[in-house]
Amino acid sequence: MRLSELQTGQKAYITKVNGSGAFRKRLLEMGFVRGEEVKSILNAPLKDPIKYAIMEYEVSLRRSEAVMIEISMLAGDAQKYREEPISAEQYPSDTDEDNNDGTEHRISHHRNDGLHSEKRIKVALLGNPNSGKTTIFNLASGAHEHVGNYGGVTVDSKEGTLRHNGYKFTLVDLPGTYSLSAYTPEELFVRKHILEEKPDVIVNVVSASAAERNLYLTTELIDLQVPMVIAMNMYDELEESGRTFDHETFSSLINIPIVPTVGKRGEGIPRLLEKVIEVYKEEEHDYVQIPYGRVLEKSIGIMEREFNSIGSAAYAGWNMPLRYICIKLLEGDSDIEKRVRALAQQEQIFSRRDKERVYIEKLLREDPESAFTNARYGFIAGGLKETLTEKTLFSDKTKLIDTLVTHKYIGFPLFFLFLWVMFEATFRLGNYPMGWIEWLVEQLGNLVRNNMSEGPLKALIVDGIIGGVGGVIVFLPNIVILYLFIAFMEDSGYMARAAFIMDKLMHRIGLHGKSFIPLIMGFGCNVPAIMATRTIESRSSRMITMFIVPFMSCSARLPVYILFVSAFVPQYASLVLLGLYAFGILIAAVTARLLRKTAFKEEETPFVMELPPYRMPTRKSIVTHMWDRSSQYLRKMGGPILVASIVIWFLGYFPQNEERDAAFDQEIALIDTQQASNEISSEEREDLVAEIEHIRNTSHQENSYIGNIGKFIEPVMRPLGFDWKISVSLLSGMAAKEIVISTMGVLYTGDSENQQSLQHRLRAESYSNGSPVFTPLVVAGFLLFVLIYFPCVASIVAIKEESHSWQWALFSVLYSTGLAWFIAFLVYQVGNLLI
Ligand code: GDP
Ligand code: MG
Repeated sequence: MRLSELQTGQKAYITKVNGSGAFRKRLLEMGFVRGEEVKSILNAPLKDPIKYAIMEYEVSLRRSEAVMIEISMLAGDAQKYREEPISAEQYPSDTDEDNNDGTEHRISHHRNDGLHSEKRIKVALLGNPNSGKTTIFNLASGAHEHVGNYGGVTVDSKEGTLRHNGYKFTLVDLPGTYSLSAYTPEELFVRKHILEEKPDVIVNVVSASAAERNLYLTTELIDLQVPMVIAMNMYDELEESGRTFDHETFSSLINIPIVPTVGKRGEGIPRLLEKVIEVYKEEEHDYVQIPYGRVLEKSIGIMEREFNSIGSAAYAGWNMPLRYICIKLLEGDSDIEKRVRALAQQEQIFSRRDKERVYIEKLLREDPESAFTNARYGFIAGGLKETLTEKTLFSDKTKLIDTLVTHKYIGFPLFFLFLWVMFEATFRLGNYPMGWIEWLVEQLGNLVRNNMSEGPLKALIVDGIIGGVGGVIVFLPNIVILYLFIAFMEDSGYMARAAFIMDKLMHRIGLHGKSFIPLIMGFGCNVPAIMATRTIESRSSRMITMFIVPFMSCSARLPVYILFVSAFVPQYASLVLLGLYAFGILIAAVTARLLRKTAFKEEETPFVMELPPYRMPTRKSIVTHMWDRSSQYLRKMGGPILVASIVIWFLGYFPQNEERDAAFDQEIALIDTQQASNEISSEEREDLVAEIEHIRNTSHQENSYIGNIGKFIEPVMRPLGFDWKISVSLLSGMAAKEIVISTMGVLYTGDSENQQSLQHRLRAESYSNGSPVFTPLVVAGFLLFVLIYFPCVASIVAIKEESHSWQWALFSVLYSTGLAWFIAFLVYQVGNLLI
């Protein structure tokens, strides 16, 4: 029977996990191992994915993935597959005997003596996603990193320092991993950090509320023989669930100090640091060995002998215990295989290894990878059986909220209600402070305008710098409010549920449920939306998602639509607007499928997502989160946007033509003399001067660099029916979409303020032969062009920052602009054929 066939509410036992590679490995690590009890709890509203309880925590799994897991309804059935279960009595004494065969089990750890005299301790925080590493890191080092009740929040490592009892600690917050296999970038990163940075002590943060699964990583660290302290975090949750844990006994079983902590309240942190100092001071560490059972131990021993025969010099530089190398090689770890391949005796070692793998398969009737995983879980289960009491109560709070938010009928409406509130708050509420900021910027501009002498410097400060900076900070209120909501969703645990219910729909375009939130946020502003993609674990999904976010029509494009729709098709305004939004979504979906079929063929990780218990977010964590993101927005986006606005200002302002200016001044002077001699009234004078100023502005724009560029690209834009003015407006819209309107304001009316008159002008605009510039086809093509080509420089910078790839950002520019051109071309040309 397959796990996917398990009815809601039923229990079964896992007998086998099929599939291969990273996919299968991840399932095993997450606790889907032979003999384990699994319960189907709930279907998502669209029947996929499914929520399962395993090892006392909850995960979601797609139906297509659950098919890979074979189950049996009978406990005994599964148990009989379980060879040599390891009981607590077997260790640690047994393991000590095992060690008598000569392999080393005492390693004095490498320490930089120079650093030692300064009493500095390098500490690395390691643990599963969501175990509370960042919380502890922030508390201990006084930093403000973002925590979240949602997997994959910390993507890169952060460093902080603190002093305690005369020691200086350097803390590193590493990305969360479920194991140290070499499959995901995070796992490789963490492993590399341990081997290359050689932290003096590792703090393994373990979530006590899902101890069994969390301790899997611990077993891998034990194999690596690194000095370590375990922080049993979330101890409050363990106690609330009515269980008791004899952590002292467990600690002596595995010979690693364990300190219970409650990261949220800072309990246990000083003790944790003291334990770290103790471990640091030990000259030699005693490491237990995970007993892998008769068959595997035999193979490990044979591999060790094989390595001994080639001499330890060959692998001494790897900084790993020999036992670890042998275990990983038997497991088929790609990183170790690569290292071995570089050895002169590689053939000898690989042929021996392959023989042993066949031997293991034959005797245990399962592949070595599962055999090792099972043994590790057996080791943990044995230890916990004696020390951790069974869970007596399930958290009613989490159960109740989950029945509501993932309900067949209520789930979606509730989610959309939440999104609607989030949107209204972000963009409606955000409009007030936005207005204040705009007002402030304007006052500042006026202040400078009235107090500086005319000239390029004044224009640079007023239009380039103040205008540019203003354009950046007006979005700040929106971003702050948006992140208030996102922080709440992430920290409470709701974000994981949103991904859970949306997964089936997103899967249709080859994405993950987690991609939905960034896409929705894109309707507000693409920049924070692209930044939000970092919560997507899978790299390929992350890259695709950030690439398609720009097709979500952001709020800056709305004013452009509104201007054109109200000028040309006021009677169908809402229909056209809706159509534009829908078309953007369509393009995003098609693009995602296309990328999935070409650049990112395979999803490297399965959709096993932890559904953490709901936790009330603390005010501090929400404020930290908001602050973090907002300042990041200012820091990262501010610079490039400022530069872009200055460049575009420069291109529009220069070259200045003094002769032409003088000619216009002369004309105005002429009119002034006419008025002085009463030939015309003062109203007539005003009109005439305004007319001249308009011509002056237009002619200046036309002759400026940007005007020249516009004319230069006009041949390219001609097939779309666009003249040079439209081209220039689109060009300046690269800085930000609102600029399209102000540029058109200047080009078409000489007055960027008056929108009423701009609408009229647009309708009246015609070529010298009298035919109108804005035919229905040109308007349609223009609106689509604005929708599709990349929203602004800031979003491109954001893509570059998040993907760590200039090429990807550049590709986004080319793809979106090319596509915009192509679609506008189709509309104009095909339309002309038909009409
Ligand atoms: P990380 O992924 O390991 O960095 O985990 P985080 O530090 O982001 O924490 C995950 C969630 O657990 C956050 O919502 C924290 O507020 C919460 N949390 C952290 N420590 C504790 C704790 O000891 N008890 C409880 N109940 N919650 C905690
Ligand atoms: Mg973290």
